[in-house]
Amino acid sequence: MSHYQSALEATEAHLRTLQANGVRFLNVQAETLFALQQSLPEQLNLVVAEEQAATEALAARQSPLLPNLVAAEKEAAVEAAAVSMEPAETGATQAPPALVAADWGREEKEAAMAALRERAMACVKCPHLVKSRRTVVFGTGDAHARLMFVGEAPGADEDAQGEPFVGAAGQLLTRIIKAMGFTRQTVYIANILKCRPDTPGQGRGNRKPTPEEMKTCLPWLLEQIDLVRPAVMVALGATAVEGLLGRGEGITRLRGRFQIFRDIPVMPTFHPSYLLHNQAVTEKRKVWEDMMQVLEKLGAPISEKQRGFFLKA
Ligand code: URA
Repeated sequence: MSHYQSALEATEAHLRTLQANGVRFLNVQAETLFALQQSLPEQLNLVVAEEQAATEALAARQSPLLPNLVAAEKEAAVEAAAVSMEPAETGATQAPPALVAADWGREEKEAAMAALRERAMACVKCPHLVKSRRTVVFGTGDAHARLMFVGEAPGADEDAQGEPFVGAAGQLLTRIIKAMGFTRQTVYIANILKCRPDTPGQGRGNRKPTPEEMKTCLPWLLEQIDLVRPAVMVALGATAVEGLLGRGEGITRLRGRFQIFRDIPVMPTFHPSYLLHNQAVTEKRKVWEDMMQVLEKLGAPISEKQRGFFLKA
């Protein structure tokens, strides 16, 4: 028996014990699942890869997000074939979507989101941000939302209140969400970065997250996306587009055109803080047109009143 096979059997035995003891959730990173699915015994010449996958399999047994893994593990191999391995349309950070959450009930998903939140709140991956932050700003809204907004990073207000988009830009976002016919409670809102970027030597102000910070923090957002599995996402501003889609050509060029991320349509649009600085009706109308495309993609009705917003100065 290969090392891979014996590790797999040990893992299965351990998972069965956990399940017998009432454990219902396991957290498996999308990347780990991917590695497991890739490391099928047929690839016998990839001995090193097998060994690595086996190590990851053992590590996975401590994780909290995957329901019924024992039953699911056989399906996972089958489903792996169905997961698109096509290169991403956007060229973004593209581990395949995790095989979780597709048919979870409300309670299971909320419990999984709460467990994820608990882990994220204790994150110390960026020591400089740990030092400067008041709190980790995890995300807010409905874990079952069909629409998810992704912003850049918390500012001072968000850092103080522990919730994304509660400052001036956030209040504008809240108005946009309402104009679309939703509330903050019926969508999901999160940021690329969960901690406020520090501004050493400055009492106030914001700065753009560094590529390194975004890369370090992104796995939290990926887990949130994999849990929520929204029907549509909105990327707010150039930094969110860059962090999420890996696209650096600028929001002005990209906005208004759906991109695909982990099989989910993503609408890039201007960040609400841009609209606060540029009050031109033409710019508001652009964002609103993007949001109408989002409503259409969601299959949500659009009233005549909504169609008329920002048509006149
Ligand atoms: N800007 C963002 O991008 N995110 C927030 O949470 C607040 C302001």
